[in-house]
Amino acid sequence: MYIMRLDDAAENWKKENWHRMHDLLSKYNIKPIIAIIPNNSDPFLLSFDKDKEYYPTIHKWLKEGWTPALHGYDHVQDSLSGGINPVNKRSEFAGKSYYEQYIKITEGYKTLSDHGIKTNIFVAPAHTFDKTTLQALRNSRRISIISDTVANDVYYYNGLFFVPQQSGEVREIFFKVTTFCYHPNTMSDEQFIKLEKFLKRHSKDFTDIKKVKFKKRNKNTLDKVLSALYFTRIKIRQLIKNNR
Ligand SMILES: [Zn+2]
Repeated sequence: MYIMRLDDAAENWKKENWHRMHDLLSKYNIKPIIAIIPNNSDPFLLSFDKDKEYYPTIHKWLKEGWTPALHGYDHVQDSLSGGINPVNKRSEFAGKSYYEQYIKITEGYKTLSDHGIKTNIFVAPAHTFDKTTLQALRNSRRISIISDTVANDVYYYNGLFFVPQQSGEVREIFFKVTTFCYHPNTMSDEQFIKLEKFLKRHSKDFTDIKKVKFKKRNKNTLDKVLSALYFTRIKIRQLIKNNR
């Protein structure tokens, strides 16, 4: 089954793209995870206008069944570590001290709470975090689920549930659980068209993260092999790029 995830909701966002995404997903009755940046300081995102209707819009969509997630604290990825899910070699969290990470998580959570948004899901900016992040998340006592790992199915590790997130765009993948992660702020017309084509055929294959059964199972051999293949492919790509 598929899960949809939308990253980088912030007061400064490309409003028209988010509304286009909302209308598209509503048409096919898909309820995504929306990864919300509590205190956005990302210079790229700050280049968009501040939306005065931002929080009312978020609340409207949450009422319709969208699920909020804590997307770090400020979205500034000033660490060059890839951590334990090295999709990128930059991070807001991986490589930083426990104290710094704990404060980001608890302050980020508090900001969302102050706006009436409660969540138990964490989405790391740039998909990157390390074991210290997991410790800080556990100790925050707020977060029990991480959306981001390469695996076939949901698993339990270090006191947290991990929901696989394997692709940045829709395609037919036959993992037990697949999350597609979109960034509406930077989506092109072609990406919206391709997404709708896929939804026309596959909308019934999507589920809502609220309906996922969280069983405390360990990562199995298949999950480990898939993860190794995925990250080996990234390393090979990087080697080829560096040798050009
Ligand atoms: Zn992000």
